[in-house]
Amino acid sequence: MARIFCIANQKGGVGKTTTTVNLAAALARLHQKVLLVDLDPQGNATMGAGIQKADLDNSVYELLLGECDVAAAKQLSGSGGFDVLPSNRELAGAEVEMVDLERREHRLKEALRQIDGEYDFILIDCPPALSMLTINGLCAADGVIIPMQCEYYALEGLADLLNTIRLVHANMNRELRIIGLLRVMFDKRATLSQHVSAQLERHFGDKVFKTVIPRNVRLAEAPSYGIPGIAFDPLSKGAQAYIDFGNEMLSWLDRR
Ligand code: ATP
Ligand code: MG
Repeated sequence: MARIFCIANQKGGVGKTTTTVNLAAALARLHQKVLLVDLDPQGNATMGAGIQKADLDNSVYELLLGECDVAAAKQLSGSGGFDVLPSNRELAGAEVEMVDLERREHRLKEALRQIDGEYDFILIDCPPALSMLTINGLCAADGVIIPMQCEYYALEGLADLLNTIRLVHANMNRELRIIGLLRVMFDKRATLSQHVSAQLERHFGDKVFKTVIPRNVRLAEAPSYGIPGIAFDPLSKGAQAYIDFGNEMLSWLDRR
């Protein structure tokens, strides 16, 4: 059975997509079979994996509405070595159109059942909102990875996110757990980064991943070429950090 992880944080621009795309590519390099699900109408993970979001015949939108199956929607990221269920802005309409559907929180979970067993990992890139799309992600997942920037406002939204995860766990998905907080875009020279990072470790203990992703311009440049950062410049500090993170995930799973 595939391990299904949501990469979630309702704050915008905190590194969810960068983490999803590069963790997918890192795990693929570590010989894992990976499916990335782009659950964000912005389609950033789709583009970052090298797939044109403008001309999709089938996407997560059709999948959630039951108009296609996984096989019809999935595409290969050649540059990343993983499969993708792509999205574009059509997906924003799904929020509204799902309202009348039965078990609307569980549409993604039920769709992914078609391919359980084909993958080692399924990574879901969530939009920056605690919306029905994100709830679908949380209902489909066994775990949540929360990317965080170590700055003052980072902690502010965290309580809402943790509360949503708690509610989904209590009412909709007993399998769901927090895998960990990932410190991203880290600037080790900044006192504030050090301070917030230490605070996270104090509060969340071993729920804070050991790997820290540095701020690295190569990770930011890669998406415009449609190539995951770890394939774009494998020797860059950012790429190396995501490989380390892939290894940390695998050894975390070994200990279960
Ligand atoms: P959204 O909430 O809009 O979906 P997000 O949480 O998915 O955003 P990203 O798109 O991954 O965040 O990152 C936001 C911006 O920061 C992007 O321009 C990305 O290239 C850049 N970025 C992400 N991680 C890093 C990093 N480690 N170093 C430098 N730039 C980064
Ligand atoms: Mg994103």
